Amino acid sequence: MNSMKQTMVSFLFLISCFISQAQPPASLNSSEILLRLKKLNVLGSVLYIAAHPDDENTRLLAYLANEKLYRTGYLSITRGDGGQNLIGDEQGTELGLIRTQELLSARRIDGAEQFFTRAYDFGFSKSTEEALEKWNKELILGDVVWVIRKFQPDVIITRFPEDSRAGHGHHSASAVLAHEAFIAAADPQQFPEQLKRGVQPWQAKRIVWNTYNFGGNNTQRGDQFKMDVGGYNALLGKGYGEIAAESRSQHKSQGFGVAAQRGSEWEYFAAVAGDAPKEDLMDGVETTWSRTASFGILDRMQLQERIERLINGFSYEHPEKSVPGLVSLYKNLAVTDGLSPYWQTQKLKELQELVRSCSGLYFEATTSMPYVAAGDSLRININVINRGGLPLSARVVQPFDYQLPASMPAKQLVSYTQTIFVPVNMPVSQPYWLEKGLNEGHFIVDDQSLIGLPESSAAYEMTLSVDINNQVFHFSTPVRYKYTDPVRGEVYQPLPVVPVLSLNESPQFVFTGLNKQPVSSIKLNVTSLASSLQKAKAQYYQYEYKGTELVKNSVLTDSALSLHKNDAISYVLKTNEILKKTGERDLRFFADIQAPYKERYQSYTIRKIEYNHIPAITYFYLNKVKVIEDEIITAGKKVGYITGAGDRVPEALQEMGYEVTYLTHKDILAGNLNDFDAIVMGVRAYNVNDWLNNVHEELMNYVKKGGNLVVQYNTRSYFGPLNAKIGPYPFEISRGRVTDETAAVHFLQPADPVLNWPNKITSKDFDGWIQERGIYFAEEPDKAYKSILGMKDPGEEEQKGSLIVSRYGEGRFIYTGLVFFRQLPAGIGGAYRLFANLVSNPNLQKTNGTAKKK
Ligand SMILES: [Zn+2]
Repeated sequence: MNSMKQTMVSFLFLISCFISQAQPPASLNSSEILLRLKKLNVLGSVLYIAAHPDDENTRLLAYLANEKLYRTGYLSITRGDGGQNLIGDEQGTELGLIRTQELLSARRIDGAEQFFTRAYDFGFSKSTEEALEKWNKELILGDVVWVIRKFQPDVIITRFPEDSRAGHGHHSASAVLAHEAFIAAADPQQFPEQLKRGVQPWQAKRIVWNTYNFGGNNTQRGDQFKMDVGGYNALLGKGYGEIAAESRSQHKSQGFGVAAQRGSEWEYFAAVAGDAPKEDLMDGVETTWSRTASFGILDRMQLQERIERLINGFSYEHPEKSVPGLVSLYKNLAVTDGLSPYWQTQKLKELQELVRSCSGLYFEATTSMPYVAAGDSLRININVINRGGLPLSARVVQPFDYQLPASMPAKQLVSYTQTIFVPVNMPVSQPYWLEKGLNEGHFIVDDQSLIGLPESSAAYEMTLSVDINNQVFHFSTPVRYKYTDPVRGEVYQPLPVVPVLSLNESPQFVFTGLNKQPVSSIKLNVTSLASSLQKAKAQYYQYEYKGTELVKNSVLTDSALSLHKNDAISYVLKTNEILKKTGERDLRFFADIQAPYKERYQSYTIRKIEYNHIPAITYFYLNKVKVIEDEIITAGKKVGYITGAGDRVPEALQEMGYEVTYLTHKDILAGNLNDFDAIVMGVRAYNVNDWLNNVHEELMNYVKKGGNLVVQYNTRSYFGPLNAKIGPYPFEISRGRVTDETAAVHFLQPADPVLNWPNKITSKDFDGWIQERGIYFAEEPDKAYKSILGMKDPGEEEQKGSLIVSRYGEGRFIYTGLVFFRQLPAGIGGAYRLFANLVSNPNLQKTNGTAKKK
């Protein structure tokens, strides 16, 4: 008993607040407190499982968490790294970082908790088998089992069926994993190593599939169990359809803003395993205190009655009056034997949060620094106010020790500032799943205690030890960067720990065969992030991979550094000398700093992602300069770019030597387009720029007079086509795609200039592509178009819409679903060669035969 109590206390100590790191510490209003008081008498839990951020049914989650008051969770197998980004140019793990935060924002609205596995979203997959194989099925199944054993759901709900009706290999695979984990979690022979780490086998009562009627796909049947989740919650002043819409609209990177629904809404459930529900989702599950035997100071009926008394006696205007009752209940519950440890811990946690909210206690720890470097000092301001005026004593116990004044009158804000030193070996604030990188289809995470967690904990936390009625509670809140923005008002952001130096290289690509002129130098930019880096010794190395190990290759330069915060210097390195020393195609540079630092320091490139709807994201990566050895010839000089949803294609064009001008609606109406050798549209340009519908004539005139217009993919939704005129002749955009990035490419028009000039394209140019070949292919093109390439996924028919070309007047129009926006930033040489051909105006070839002049 004693040891169990201790584990519980240390567990409580670690709970941080359920608030975003970008919001001030939350205070619940009286309605919300009353809802949480009612929740104390509910002992039931539900875990929803699907594949991606945005798969989850937010209406059902909102209903289960706020109407049924169950502990509710969503386990997303992936972080959605492979989706398309509607709000910016982040792809891959960066998009996963954004979507992780969007899910956390959604959960703060619908009241559910968030979990993930280690699986990487590698992009669209057509089969369950492919998804499970790439993820490493056994590993990810273990993660799902781990989350189930920790969360102990009574009912598991999947969003998808286990077969191809799920429409995406990740979707069906998420259902297969959920079903297998439902069985495995209960079996002590399965994943037995987990049992040594504080979890027990767990048998959920049942697993059901939440069927749907969506986009012409109806899997709901009359004989399935159904329930109405469309109610209204008077305490929250919202219906579940309204909460759901607010929650779902957090998925801004996916463009999933939705309208609220009001009134009855039925959800259907097909039984998967365990006995089927008949009257209620929780049939056969006891969700009151009766589920847990107890004896000693409190029996279960007394518990229930005491909570009911707290509910009935709750004062809306003076919630602090409930505190003595809550504290007394907390004390008794903490020493009651025989309760299920899971529910005892869970209810103590809920009671502690209620004590904090009812007492009106407010506390925050902030700094005016946006980041802090290891080895620097950090000035932390704390503010505490005892707004409920209850007699209590409080002491800051972390990150420094400070006893607050004995008397804290209700209206008196207590402020205190102290500076702490950040150790030189303090780890940088890297999201835990990115620390060791990716291994094929999953992130490498060795620490089992991190598995399932949505994010890393804050670098610094303030913990306040509060004694109320002779019970000590530990409340924690992250130390955050706080500032006032003239538009947004007061903003709180996470406080990252950064390295003393940031290192950046330019260019990102070294072309050794671009227009037969190799790139001659690489610039190494070094920025100091520490407050003062005086008389430090820096050595810059280049590393290379020997097998899987990163080995120091050569010392590039040695120097003494004397830099103030944000000072930058740069070194120019000769490319041919570096290339002579290495056989590597990826060049990695490191800086080691010694004196005055005791420890050797390795620098990173820092990347910050900022959007207003989520907390700022900082992460670090070991950058590399990619060497592209393919011979690439370009023709023309000036390219106009119409930005779409965001991509890094313009940067790639610049690296190829093009002058890129961003074109707006006004520029196109003003004409003067004839100067451009090509106009290129960013991905989804027609989906995000309504004005493009009004300039079709201008763009076609540009083509007619000898221009070269390249349109990258636009999407078609499940609900219908994109109603835009894009080319000179009609074609449709389909949902056709080829996800096998190694699919053989069949040249349907081998003589077309697009495959021959200025670069002669061969099948070798399709080697090494990443994630997929193409998406949203053209369909039913007018016969004026030529389909240039054929390709297919295994077991499917050949698709011919990845690249269509038509002459129009004196010029050329191209639509392509090939994913250049992925291949060019990844440095795929063949993709550069083909893209150079698309951008190179064929009229330049006719006029003077040379590729390089107009
Ligand atoms: Zn999905």
